Amino acid sequence: SSVFANVVRAPEDPILGVTVAYHKDQSPNKLNLGVGAYRTEEGKPLVLNVVKKAEQMLVNDQSRVKEYLPIVGLADFNKLSAKLIFGADSPAIQENRVATVQCLSGTGSLRVGGEFLARHYHEHTVYIPQPTWGNHPKIFTLAGLSVKTYRYYNPETRGLDFEGMLEDLGSAPLGAIVLLHACAHNPTGVDPTIEQWEQIRQLMRSKSLLPFFDSAYQGFASGSLDADAQSVRIFVADGGECLAAQSYAKNMGLYGERVGALSIVCKTADVASKVESQLKLVIRPMYSSPPLHGASIVAAILKDGDLYNEWTLELKAMADRIISMRQELFNALQAKETPGDWSHIVKQIGMFTFTGLNSEQVTFMTNEYHIYLTSDGRISMAGLSSRTVPHLADAIHAAVT
Ligand code: PLP
Repeated sequence: SSVFANVVRAPEDPILGVTVAYHKDQSPNKLNLGVGAYRTEEGKPLVLNVVKKAEQMLVNDQSRVKEYLPIVGLADFNKLSAKLIFGADSPAIQENRVATVQCLSGTGSLRVGGEFLARHYHEHTVYIPQPTWGNHPKIFTLAGLSVKTYRYYNPETRGLDFEGMLEDLGSAPLGAIVLLHACAHNPTGVDPTIEQWEQIRQLMRSKSLLPFFDSAYQGFASGSLDADAQSVRIFVADGGECLAAQSYAKNMGLYGERVGALSIVCKTADVASKVESQLKLVIRPMYSSPPLHGASIVAAILKDGDLYNEWTLELKAMADRIISMRQELFNALQAKETPGDWSHIVKQIGMFTFTGLNSEQVTFMTNEYHIYLTSDGRISMAGLSSRTVPHLADAIHAAVT
């Protein structure tokens, strides 16, 4: 018998498992709203035009080779990524006190950041919002940190539990790490306002809490790269330290290329260069060096004025389509006089709506309407189209009446 005969079958990933179930469904009306990936109005994955152009440029460039990248990744990519999130005029960048390393998308950036903190930071507790992206607790636990939660979402208002958040951060131990979603909080779609961010910043700085931003949706939430980075920039502007994990999965549609960056903003250039030297020691035994292709696409787009502008337009078009899906779904429920207040559908931000539907209602919608979503009632607005909104509205209506 197999030496692995005692291996116990692991449960399906709660998010990716939704897609597995969707693929097994034979119904022509089936609809996958579980996946966090952008779809066109026709329900198809989208490769941005600007990405196709950049890839063509890379193919045409005869001087390109497939040598290993350095441990920290592509230098241009790192510089331009820091500029993208912190702003072109960021003093932290000008003063050379940001250490940036190319990582395997957002997930890999969080993991490398977590492992660095476990080795080199005095406080090993990381506070994550309740709820949060399901991978956060696992990433940080495996990185060697201990995970606690802070209140974030109020199911009554389907909005931010700002008091609860401040209370929990206020009672965290001095110096604790705090994971913050830079924008478009997943799964709730609920973000603090700028004024609230400023209060969060004051509280966190007064207790020396270390901000670790997860930026998976820059530009994808509002359509503006600058607006979606405001939370991060408020913290960097005060001269204090922070970490930021960036993903190009959503905002450039580079999901499978696994391209992202970890930046650690330090107090001085000397500290930043020491931090970078230690990040290399985290990365080298983990995967040696990052992949070349995705980072080359991103760097080509970020460094060329025309391509950059074209990107911002395509990004805005994706964000606008999602925002219009919110309005269409809200309007459809209004028209059907579906019981309840559904205004959170238009108020929430980013790719997801946290509908407030419970797991029985979700099961009902899957069984009766072939609509697939996570059991917490989160729907991906990016998976909807004008054609499928009525079907979803029918399902929600039936589920709550
Ligand atoms: N962080 C959040 C909040 C996310 O929603 C995601 C993706 O769904 C990620 C990070 C990481 O994604 P990736 O590793 O594909 O960049």
